[in-house]
Amino acid sequence: MNDASIAYDMVVVGGGPTGLAAAIALAQIGARTALIARLAPYADNRTTALLGGSVDFLQGLEVWPRCRDKAAELRVMRLVDDTGRLIRAPEVHFSCEEIGLDVFGYNIENRVLVSALEERAAAVPNLTRFDDEAATISPEDEIVAISLGTSGSLSARLAIGADGRQSLCREAAGITVHRRELNQAALTFNVSHSRPHRNVSTEFHTPQGPCVFVPLPGDRSSVVWVSAPKEAERLRALSDEELSQAAESQSHSILGRLNVEPGRHLFPLAIERPRQFAKARIALVGEAAHVLPPIGAQGLNMGLRDAADIADAVRDALASGEDPGAPAVLNRYASARRADVVSRTLAIDIANRSLLSAVLPMQSLRAAGLHLIGSFGPLRRLAMREGLAPSWRAVRPH
Ligand SMILES: Cc1cc2nc3c(=O)[nH]c(=O)nc-3n(C[C@H](O)[C@H](O)[C@H](O)COP(=O)(O)OP(=O)(O)OC[C@H]3O[C@@H](n4cnc5c(N)ncnc54)[C@H](O)[C@@H]3O)c2cc1C
Repeated sequence: MNDASIAYDMVVVGGGPTGLAAAIALAQIGARTALIARLAPYADNRTTALLGGSVDFLQGLEVWPRCRDKAAELRVMRLVDDTGRLIRAPEVHFSCEEIGLDVFGYNIENRVLVSALEERAAAVPNLTRFDDEAATISPEDEIVAISLGTSGSLSARLAIGADGRQSLCREAAGITVHRRELNQAALTFNVSHSRPHRNVSTEFHTPQGPCVFVPLPGDRSSVVWVSAPKEAERLRALSDEELSQAAESQSHSILGRLNVEPGRHLFPLAIERPRQFAKARIALVGEAAHVLPPIGAQGLNMGLRDAADIADAVRDALASGEDPGAPAVLNRYASARRADVVSRTLAIDIANRSLLSAVLPMQSLRAAGLHLIGSFGPLRRLAMREGLAPSWRAVRPH
């Protein structure tokens, strides 16, 4: 495909789940959109617990009906203190019925979600895909010029940086990033089990990080096991039988006998926050805009809210004849995202630090906080609602 001589309204760089969702949302509101993303099979076995408005957003993008039957409902979330410390938190039990919902959300394999997004991206009008990489990105006064890796170039009034952690768009905009490596890594794999999960997700808090068992369709669950990097390497190197036993022991056999499925991936963990969300005709979404440890299933849910908010900002700009790449539009997008991203990054950082802390007062504070949430209904309901989506967020159709 070579439409490189054409000027677009929008160009989205990066075809991970956030970039695909942003490109579909922008094309759906009528913006002439280019997507620069290599067509390649999704490469790891992560799953996503889609919470709150994420499913409504995917429904509006006509993506959800394409993958709904391959997702598992999440109705209960349990937090279990498995630190073995002297001061331990009581078990906390969140149930969707308590806040009047049928489900908290759905857990889905990323490769299934991405293939539904790819399918919709291929069908939506106004979207032109370049199976390529962005080689250079140059913000100018009235456009952003992009040269493609293979050949050709294109331009747009606004570029969406959905190009992940090593974002070229972020660098081109001159946005610096605050990065903190965590001395933790997450091992991901899926298991089948002899007992049903009953749509309950269980998070065991260990002194090295959480180990979470999240329901998949049937008698299967996805596992995210956070530990110190050396321990994560050790777990990854175990035989299938050894890892099945280790996971069964970590889960206290709540799911009966476990059998690991083929495929393991290791993710070194970090917290990243750019100083700005948008600048110089470039707006950042997804992991280009925030990286968090996998606690509370927030990362992609925030990425989907980025996609929804940039589409809202562009729709309003186009409707009023405003330049969608103008500083005022970028500022509106940045203020829509700031509180959500900053508050969640902080909350997850504190939750993670309090778990790892060997300091007794910190452990007592954590135990007291979880005790309060577990025993005091209004606080528990508030925590559940805030965990799903920010309460101040207006719901808008897409
Ligand atoms: C272990 C683990 C478990 C998680 N669980 C959850 C969960 O339950 N719920 C949740 O909400 N989040 C979860 N997350 C977070 C979630 O996985 C990420 O937020 C999400 O995958 C990021 O998607 P993305 O599209 O922003 O980035 P990516 O998936 O990294 O996509 C970026 C894309 O851009 C492409 N790219 C880069 N540079 C260029 C270029 N120059 N030109 C063109 N393309 C380019 C890359 O090839 C890539 O395809 C988890 C994360 C981890 C590590």
